[in-house]
Amino acid sequence: MSELHKFIFEGLPVRGMLVRLTGAWTELLQRREKAGAYPEPVRDLLGEMAAAGVLMQANIKFDGALVLQIQGDGPVRLAVTEVQPDLALRATATVTGEVAGAAGLEALVNVGGKGRCAITLDPGGKKAGQQPYQGVVALHGDRREPLQQLSDVLEHYMLQSEQLDTKLVLAADGDVAAGLLIQRLPGEGSGNLGTTNEEGIGRSEDYRRIALLAGTLTREELLTLPADKLLHRLFWEETLRRFEPLIGAQGPRFECRCSRQRVARMLQSLGRLELDGLIEERGAADVGCEFCGAQYRFDAVDVGELFTPPRDQPPASSAVQ
Ligand SMILES: [Zn+2]
Repeated sequence: MSELHKFIFEGLPVRGMLVRLTGAWTELLQRREKAGAYPEPVRDLLGEMAAAGVLMQANIKFDGALVLQIQGDGPVRLAVTEVQPDLALRATATVTGEVAGAAGLEALVNVGGKGRCAITLDPGGKKAGQQPYQGVVALHGDRREPLQQLSDVLEHYMLQSEQLDTKLVLAADGDVAAGLLIQRLPGEGSGNLGTTNEEGIGRSEDYRRIALLAGTLTREELLTLPADKLLHRLFWEETLRRFEPLIGAQGPRFECRCSRQRVARMLQSLGRLELDGLIEERGAADVGCEFCGAQYRFDAVDVGELFTPPRDQPPASSAVQ
């Protein structure tokens, strides 16, 4: 079962999270198979994005969806993960070109150096007029060297936009998508810790030591070790306080929020003329969900209804009070 573990390092300004997507990840992949399975490097990138999306959503206090999106200029044009506040997640990727067997981040989405990674916090239309917040980072480092790991891109983003020192380790294969996040807690006056502030130096040394330990985690270990074993192997010399893991209905799971109603709204926005043309040509408008594979069919009658104003409510005067 997919699981999320949160923990803090007792007495130190450092927190951590470990996510393992198993059922949620294999369901996502199975639903994709009908439309053609992803090439392995694309699958692994999407898995890392799914794991990272859960970690980032669980790391913020925000009542809305977190969308992690890579717009690529290589064979992968788009890769998206969306994670709801209750950790329901979905993800999809659009592959338009040939993917080499061992393609890394640069070869997949940053061939011409124009790839971008965007993190959007979408309030989900709950409060009218509230704009989504979006942060965008390029896929290269400070010396413009192309980054080869998604974790490097996201660490960069966290430092740039949140001013938070973060260590991320991500990995995915056909069975598991997993991630470990270690973060320095924003302490009092953390924005201006001078080098003369001894306490400040001590605090960053704790973070650095723990981040270094996290960095020794191998892909193999992250994908195969149960959470307890993994945390013990890395941090047995530290004092961890762990919280109740989030699993099952409380934990990360695959869930798509598409519906016939949403598809109807999308079709309405295309306009009557466009739709009538489509119906004439194909007999119906077929819309498939990119995330879960659900198929929605709108025939001539359905399309007619989309553009018919709702009928007046029947008079309620005859109702017995
Ligand atoms: Zn769907």
